[in-house]
Amino acid sequence: MKTLANFIDGKLVAPAEGIYIDSLNPATGEVNGKVPDSTAKDVNLAVEAANRAFPSWSKTTRAYRSALMIKVADLLEQKLEEFALEESKDQGKPVSLARTVDIPRAIYNFRFFANSILNRHEKATELDGIALNYVHRTSAGVAGLISPWNLPLYLLTWKIAPAMAAGCTSVCKPSEFTSVTAWMLCSILNEAGVVNMVFGTGPNAGAPLVSHPDVPLISFTGGTATGELIYKAAAPLNKKLSLELGGKNANIVFADADFDEALKTTVNSSFANQGEICLCGSRIFVEKPIFDRFTKELAAAADKLVVGNPTVTGTTTGALVSEQHLAKVASYIDLARAEGGTVLSGGSRVTDGALARGFFIRPTVIVGLPAIDCRVQQEEIFGPVVTVTPFDTEDEAVRFANSTKYGLSASLWTENGKRAHRVAQQLQVSVRGGGS
Ligand code: NAD
Repeated sequence: MKTLANFIDGKLVAPAEGIYIDSLNPATGEVNGKVPDSTAKDVNLAVEAANRAFPSWSKTTRAYRSALMIKVADLLEQKLEEFALEESKDQGKPVSLARTVDIPRAIYNFRFFANSILNRHEKATELDGIALNYVHRTSAGVAGLISPWNLPLYLLTWKIAPAMAAGCTSVCKPSEFTSVTAWMLCSILNEAGVVNMVFGTGPNAGAPLVSHPDVPLISFTGGTATGELIYKAAAPLNKKLSLELGGKNANIVFADADFDEALKTTVNSSFANQGEICLCGSRIFVEKPIFDRFTKELAAAADKLVVGNPTVTGTTTGALVSEQHLAKVASYIDLARAEGGTVLSGGSRVTDGALARGFFIRPTVIVGLPAIDCRVQQEEIFGPVVTVTPFDTEDEAVRFANSTKYGLSASLWTENGKRAHRVAQQLQVSVRGGGS
């Protein structure tokens, strides 16, 4: 068990109030780390450090920052296995997923932004004989970076790397549920004050960061309700905001789709990381002629997923991040039954053997719900739970898909190229709900 400290000015610093939160291993229910329950005092120290580092860091050359970030990527790569195992214990995700997706993509983020900063160019426009308009970018200052628990390292580096590349210093507030992986990253970030981390809860540590007058920009990834709070808190301060919020993504499968490919990808896109990925498809709409076959085979495939100890290679479905989250996901399965749905596979917590101590739920496929008018089709569940609903026409599929307040992503399956473009252009993703 590790006791974490905040990372301020390149040093590990205990929280001002000396209070810690237990961070549990979701697979065992045991304490995996003691996480500082930081407050505004800790946030202020971190912002001061980031502000002190800003003038010299923002004046470094791009080549310098790029080389440093490549070094961070190399060090992370050397420790890939260590990070993958820790992230699995921290979040409950299968270690194979952390090993092949999360950590490699975190490494990629540092390399990508290290390269892009060297190759950046801007447009200029000319107003005949009068003016030349050109873009000159400056580093904005201290960036407040707030990340969720579902891809702990990947999503955090998706913020840290561009901030570093742009010459910004930063104060990060990783999720209180998965701080251990973020804390490990501190050991390979060596420039004092450039990246600082304050651990703790949203209200105690996240909110003071959002409202801090010396933090001109906030990059947040997390739930839609939290995003709304951040909008409200940041608006009177005129901060720059980047918000990546929740999803209730539709997968539309037409009868002419490559059936096996659509099925295989749907299983993966619905249940990877226990369905705890913002882009997971959670509403599957299937054209009537193939609905029965698709549903039956999807339920059978869900039953075959290996729910187990996430640190063991071969496990495909690990534990949900916390007991509270498990209760939330289970409550939606109960609600689906109450709203008239039928559970074809899964539908229950795993209560046998060693897994009973962890927060495991079986991959769940539900049919028989109204396409639009019920809470289960409208609210983000963020677990291994999908609804499958038939549709008759293209227009109906689009109407069903566009019926939620979320707009993060969608996918569609057809072998008809014209239809693919026609339908894709009508899907309201990336335009509402704070989507990417
Ligand atoms: P969350 O909104 O509860 O928490 C996200 C982060 O915000 C955490 O670090 C939390 O401590 C902090 N926070 C909470 N309240 C705050 C406040 N008032 N002020 C400042 N910070 C605060 O989300 P979560 O449960 O950690 O993550 C799951 C959610 O994230 C899901 O809705 C999922 O769809 C979404 N998500 C979106 C994307 C995307 O790219 N769109 C990616 C991953 C996850």
